[in-house]
Amino acid sequence: MDDASLARLAELDHRVSACRACPRLVAWREEVARTKRAAFADWTYWGRPVPGFGPPDARLLIIGLAPAAHGGNRTGRMFTGDRSGDVLYQAMYDVGLASQPTSVSAGDGLELYGVRVTSPVHCAPPANKPTPEERDTCRPWLVEELRLLRPTLRAAVVLGAFGWQAALPAFAEAGWAVPRPRPAFAHGARVDLGGLDLLGCFHVSQRNTFTGRLTPEMLREVLRTAAKAARLP
Ligand code: SF4
Repeated sequence: MDDASLARLAELDHRVSACRACPRLVAWREEVARTKRAAFADWTYWGRPVPGFGPPDARLLIIGLAPAAHGGNRTGRMFTGDRSGDVLYQAMYDVGLASQPTSVSAGDGLELYGVRVTSPVHCAPPANKPTPEERDTCRPWLVEELRLLRPTLRAAVVLGAFGWQAALPAFAEAGWAVPRPRPAFAHGARVDLGGLDLLGCFHVSQRNTFTGRLTPEMLREVLRTAAKAARLP
Protein backbone atom coordinates (compact mmCIF):
# COMPACT_ATOMS: atom_id res chain seq x y z
CA MET A 1 0.00 0.00 0.00
CA ASP A 2 1.36 3.42 -0.93
CA ASP A 3 1.76 6.29 1.52
CA ALA A 4 -1.28 8.13 0.15
CA SER A 5 -3.59 5.14 0.78
CA LEU A 6 -2.13 4.72 4.24
CA ALA A 7 -2.81 8.35 5.02
CA ARG A 8 -6.38 8.07 3.69
CA LEU A 9 -7.20 5.19 6.04
CA ALA A 10 -5.65 6.99 9.02
CA GLU A 11 -7.66 10.06 8.07
CA LEU A 12 -10.85 7.96 7.85
CA ASP A 13 -10.20 6.55 11.35
CA HIS A 14 -9.75 10.09 12.59
CA ARG A 15 -13.02 11.27 11.04
CA VAL A 16 -14.95 8.24 12.34
CA SER A 17 -13.74 9.03 15.87
CA ALA A 18 -15.34 12.46 15.70
CA CYS A 19 -18.75 11.41 14.32
CA ARG A 20 -21.88 12.53 16.18
CA ALA A 21 -24.55 11.51 13.66
CA CYS A 22 -26.68 9.31 15.98
CA PRO A 23 -28.08 11.31 18.91
CA ARG A 24 -29.09 8.27 21.00
CA LEU A 25 -25.67 6.63 20.66
CA VAL A 26 -23.75 9.85 21.27
CA ALA A 27 -25.72 10.39 24.51
CA TRP A 28 -25.21 6.75 25.62
CA ARG A 29 -21.49 6.43 24.87
CA GLU A 30 -20.79 9.72 26.66
CA GLU A 31 -22.95 8.88 29.66
CA VAL A 32 -21.22 5.50 30.06
CA ALA A 33 -17.87 7.27 29.81
CA ARG A 34 -18.91 9.65 32.60
CA THR A 35 -20.51 7.17 34.98
CA LYS A 36 -18.09 4.25 34.27
CA ARG A 37 -18.16 0.80 35.89
CA ALA A 38 -16.74 0.54 39.39
CA ALA A 39 -13.97 -1.82 38.25
CA PHE A 40 -12.76 0.83 35.77
CA ALA A 41 -13.29 3.91 37.95
CA ASP A 42 -9.68 5.03 37.44
CA TRP A 43 -9.93 4.85 33.64
CA THR A 44 -10.51 7.82 31.37
CA TYR A 45 -13.00 6.27 29.00
CA TRP A 46 -12.62 6.83 25.27
CA GLY A 47 -16.36 7.63 25.00
CA ARG A 48 -16.25 8.19 21.22
CA PRO A 49 -16.80 6.13 18.07
CA VAL A 50 -14.26 3.30 17.84
CA PRO A 51 -12.47 3.11 14.46
CA GLY A 52 -11.23 -0.08 12.80
CA PHE A 53 -7.98 -1.63 14.04
CA GLY A 54 -5.28 -3.35 12.01
CA PRO A 55 -2.94 -2.76 9.09
CA PRO A 56 -4.16 -0.67 6.12
CA ASP A 57 -3.06 -3.35 3.64
CA ALA A 58 -5.07 -6.12 5.35
CA ARG A 59 -6.01 -9.15 3.25
CA LEU A 60 -8.63 -10.25 5.76
CA LEU A 61 -11.31 -8.20 7.52
CA ILE A 62 -13.25 -9.26 10.62
CA ILE A 63 -16.57 -7.47 11.04
CA GLY A 64 -18.36 -7.51 14.40
CA LEU A 65 -21.46 -5.65 15.57
CA ALA A 66 -20.60 -2.59 17.68
CA PRO A 67 -18.18 -1.67 20.49
CA ALA A 68 -19.01 -2.76 24.03
CA ALA A 69 -19.88 -0.03 26.54
CA HIS A 70 -17.01 -0.92 28.90
CA GLY A 71 -14.79 -2.55 26.25
CA GLY A 72 -14.07 -0.60 23.06
CA ASN A 73 -15.94 2.43 24.39
CA ARG A 74 -13.51 2.46 27.33
CA THR A 75 -10.24 1.55 25.61
CA GLY A 76 -10.79 3.13 22.17
CA ARG A 77 -9.83 -0.05 20.31
CA MET A 78 -12.05 -2.67 18.70
CA PHE A 79 -12.81 -5.74 20.84
CA THR A 80 -10.38 -4.53 23.48
CA GLY A 81 -11.04 -4.82 27.20
CA ASP A 82 -14.06 -7.15 27.21
CA ARG A 83 -14.82 -10.87 27.23
CA SER A 84 -15.78 -11.01 23.53
CA GLY A 85 -12.40 -9.56 22.64
CA ASP A 86 -10.64 -12.06 24.94
CA VAL A 87 -12.18 -14.91 22.93
CA LEU A 88 -11.53 -13.34 19.53
CA TYR A 89 -7.91 -12.31 20.06
CA GLN A 90 -7.01 -15.60 21.76
CA ALA A 91 -8.28 -17.44 18.66
CA MET A 92 -6.49 -15.01 16.31
CA TYR A 93 -3.28 -15.58 18.25
CA ASP A 94 -3.79 -19.34 18.15
CA VAL A 95 -3.96 -19.37 14.34
CA GLY A 96 -1.13 -16.86 13.83
CA LEU A 97 -3.11 -13.70 13.06
CA ALA A 98 -2.20 -11.73 16.21
CA SER A 99 1.03 -11.07 18.10
CA GLN A 100 -0.42 -11.80 21.54
CA PRO A 101 -3.46 -13.61 22.98
CA THR A 102 -4.77 -10.69 25.03
CA SER A 103 -6.06 -7.24 24.23
CA VAL A 104 -6.46 -5.02 27.26
CA SER A 105 -5.69 -1.46 26.19
CA ALA A 106 -4.84 0.54 23.08
CA GLY A 107 -1.21 0.72 24.25
CA ASP A 108 -0.65 -2.98 25.00
CA GLY A 109 1.50 -3.60 21.89
CA LEU A 110 -0.94 -5.94 20.13
CA GLU A 111 -0.29 -6.27 16.39
CA LEU A 112 -2.52 -7.98 13.85
CA TYR A 113 -0.92 -9.78 10.92
CA GLY A 114 -2.69 -9.05 7.64
CA VAL A 115 -6.04 -8.62 9.39
CA ARG A 116 -8.14 -5.63 10.26
CA VAL A 117 -11.04 -5.68 12.71
CA THR A 118 -13.99 -3.33 12.32
CA SER A 119 -17.74 -3.09 12.94
CA PRO A 120 -20.77 -1.80 11.05
CA VAL A 121 -21.73 0.45 14.00
CA HIS A 122 -18.87 2.36 15.58
CA CYS A 123 -20.54 3.54 18.80
CA ALA A 124 -21.51 1.43 21.80
CA PRO A 125 -25.30 0.98 21.81
CA PRO A 126 -27.55 0.46 24.86
CA ALA A 127 -28.04 -3.30 25.47
CA ASN A 128 -25.66 -3.97 22.53
CA LYS A 129 -28.58 -3.29 20.19
CA PRO A 130 -28.26 -0.58 17.57
CA THR A 131 -31.46 0.31 15.74
CA PRO A 132 -31.78 -0.37 11.99
CA GLU A 133 -31.66 3.40 11.49
CA GLU A 134 -28.37 3.68 13.41
CA ARG A 135 -26.97 0.75 11.41
CA ASP A 136 -27.88 2.51 8.15
CA THR A 137 -26.53 5.87 9.35
CA CYS A 138 -23.16 4.28 10.14
CA ARG A 139 -22.91 2.28 6.90
CA PRO A 140 -21.05 4.95 4.87
CA TRP A 141 -18.08 4.60 7.23
CA LEU A 142 -17.86 0.87 6.49
CA VAL A 143 -18.30 1.49 2.76
CA GLU A 144 -15.43 3.96 2.81
CA GLU A 145 -13.23 1.59 4.80
CA LEU A 146 -14.00 -1.24 2.36
CA ARG A 147 -13.14 0.95 -0.62
CA LEU A 148 -9.79 1.86 0.91
CA LEU A 149 -9.01 -1.79 1.76
CA ARG A 150 -10.22 -3.10 -1.60
CA PRO A 151 -6.81 -3.29 -3.34
CA THR A 152 -5.57 -5.92 -0.87
CA LEU A 153 -8.72 -7.40 0.70
CA ARG A 154 -9.42 -11.03 -0.27
CA ALA A 155 -11.61 -12.42 2.54
CA ALA A 156 -13.89 -11.28 5.35
CA VAL A 157 -15.40 -12.95 8.40
CA VAL A 158 -18.68 -11.52 9.65
CA LEU A 159 -19.54 -12.25 13.29
CA GLY A 160 -23.28 -12.73 13.68
CA ALA A 161 -26.46 -12.04 11.72
CA PHE A 162 -26.63 -8.32 12.51
CA GLY A 163 -23.16 -7.72 11.08
CA TRP A 164 -23.99 -9.90 8.08
CA GLN A 165 -27.10 -7.87 7.24
CA ALA A 166 -25.19 -4.64 7.68
CA ALA A 167 -22.13 -5.78 5.72
CA LEU A 168 -23.75 -7.15 2.56
CA PRO A 169 -25.08 -3.79 1.30
CA ALA A 170 -21.77 -2.17 2.27
CA PHE A 171 -19.81 -4.70 0.19
CA ALA A 172 -22.22 -4.07 -2.71
CA GLU A 173 -21.79 -0.30 -2.43
CA ALA A 174 -18.01 -0.71 -2.30
CA GLY A 175 -18.09 -2.54 -5.63
CA TRP A 176 -18.16 -6.27 -4.87
CA ALA A 177 -20.68 -8.64 -6.52
CA VAL A 178 -23.24 -9.48 -3.82
CA PRO A 179 -25.68 -12.17 -5.06
CA ARG A 180 -29.44 -11.53 -5.29
CA PRO A 181 -31.35 -12.64 -3.35
CA ARG A 182 -28.91 -11.83 -0.61
CA PRO A 183 -27.39 -14.96 0.97
CA ALA A 184 -28.63 -15.80 4.48
CA PHE A 185 -26.37 -15.72 7.51
CA ALA A 186 -25.23 -19.03 8.97
CA HIS A 187 -22.22 -20.16 10.94
CA GLY A 188 -19.96 -21.63 8.27
CA ALA A 189 -21.69 -19.79 5.39
CA ARG A 190 -19.27 -18.98 2.58
CA VAL A 191 -20.12 -16.69 -0.31
CA ASP A 192 -17.99 -15.63 -3.26
CA LEU A 193 -18.38 -11.89 -3.82
CA GLY A 194 -16.25 -11.94 -6.96
CA GLY A 195 -12.68 -11.79 -5.73
CA LEU A 196 -13.56 -11.84 -2.04
CA ASP A 197 -14.59 -14.80 0.14
CA LEU A 198 -17.21 -13.82 2.71
CA LEU A 199 -17.56 -16.16 5.69
CA GLY A 200 -20.19 -16.23 8.42
CA CYS A 201 -19.36 -17.05 12.04
CA PHE A 202 -21.44 -16.89 15.22
CA HIS A 203 -20.66 -13.72 17.17
CA VAL A 204 -18.08 -14.00 19.97
CA SER A 205 -20.62 -12.64 22.47
CA GLN A 206 -20.75 -14.16 25.94
CA ARG A 207 -24.22 -15.48 25.12
CA ASN A 208 -22.64 -17.67 22.43
CA THR A 209 -19.32 -18.53 24.04
CA PHE A 210 -20.60 -19.23 27.58
CA THR A 211 -23.28 -21.57 26.26
CA GLY A 212 -20.94 -23.43 23.90
CA ARG A 213 -22.85 -22.33 20.80
CA LEU A 214 -19.51 -21.00 19.61
CA THR A 215 -16.51 -22.97 20.88
CA PRO A 216 -12.88 -21.80 20.56
CA GLU A 217 -12.24 -24.56 18.01
CA MET A 218 -15.25 -23.50 15.89
CA LEU A 219 -13.88 -19.97 15.84
CA ARG A 220 -10.34 -21.10 15.05
CA GLU A 221 -11.66 -23.22 12.19
CA VAL A 222 -13.43 -20.24 10.58
CA LEU A 223 -10.33 -18.08 11.03
CA ARG A 224 -8.08 -20.75 9.51
CA THR A 225 -10.40 -21.07 6.51
CA ALA A 226 -10.54 -17.29 6.11
CA ALA A 227 -6.76 -16.91 6.41
CA LYS A 228 -6.32 -19.54 3.72
CA ALA A 229 -8.87 -17.81 1.46
CA ALA A 230 -6.99 -14.53 2.01
CA ARG A 231 -3.71 -16.34 1.24
CA LEU A 232 -2.22 -15.29 4.52
CA PRO A 233 0.81 -17.32 5.64
S1 SF4 B 1 -22.82 4.87 15.20
FE1 SF4 B 1 -21.62 5.51 13.40
S2 SF4 B 1 -22.85 7.09 12.37
FE2 SF4 B 1 -23.67 6.86 14.48
S3 SF4 B 1 -22.58 8.41 15.70
FE3 SF4 B 1 -21.43 6.49 15.88
S4 SF4 B 1 -19.87 6.62 14.25
FE4 SF4 B 1 -21.45 8.15 13.78
